Amino acid sequence: MEKELYLEYLKIIRDFKGYLQKKMKKSKNFPPQLEENKAHLLKELYEKVKDCKNCPLHRTRTNLVFGEGSPEATLMFVGEAPGKEEDLQGRPFVGAAGKLLRETIKNLGISEKKIYIANILKCRPPQNRDPKPEEIARCIPYLKKQIEIIKPRIICTLGKFSTQNLLNTTKGITYLRGKKHTLPGGTLLIPTLHPAACIYKPYWKEKFLEDLDKVKEELDRLSESPANTFD
Ligand code: URA
Repeated sequence: MEKELYLEYLKIIRDFKGYLQKKMKKSKNFPPQLEENKAHLLKELYEKVKDCKNCPLHRTRTNLVFGEGSPEATLMFVGEAPGKEEDLQGRPFVGAAGKLLRETIKNLGISEKKIYIANILKCRPPQNRDPKPEEIARCIPYLKKQIEIIKPRIICTLGKFSTQNLLNTTKGITYLRGKKHTLPGGTLLIPTLHPAACIYKPYWKEKFLEDLDKVKEELDRLSESPANTFD
């Protein structure tokens, strides 16, 4: 008798699980409040950040470049800092480096709906010089908050600054790139070279493409796993 009851319970649980999985497959926004929450939290963060004067870069910026993409992104790209075109448009990766990055993403068949793009610095350093440690220290909490809200499953860091600062290491990008690293919360981080450095260097571009292939492989692996039937 007890065994029958137990089996009955199991069947109810299985049926309910099946019902939930079907519902998740049907609706891209299930459960609905998740996506709304993330979008809302990102908007709140943007309101806090948009007039930031935490470092001298605010004096020379045209626009602060917060980041863009899906609040529900599974994959997040993290660059260094806005360049001239990004500063003018207020959007990340819209110049020459952005062209290479966005074309590569498209060629790999990665949907825009799955990605979010941000930088470690939200304001352009004059003449595109390297970010200074104190600028990074002031600005990185914004990026960390974006990551905390979006909770991407994979982060692809572009270049040495975002890679070293998110991995908390001083190891070189040529050593770190293409390897899979795991952040404390379980997010997979795959670093690659900065696309700006790859434009005129075929060998580096080849490595960049190889690394993004790996990112795509991991992305595919995630959407195949049963825990992600709603992806
Ligand atoms: N380089 C970056 O690191 N980020 C941008 O947004 C543009 C160029």
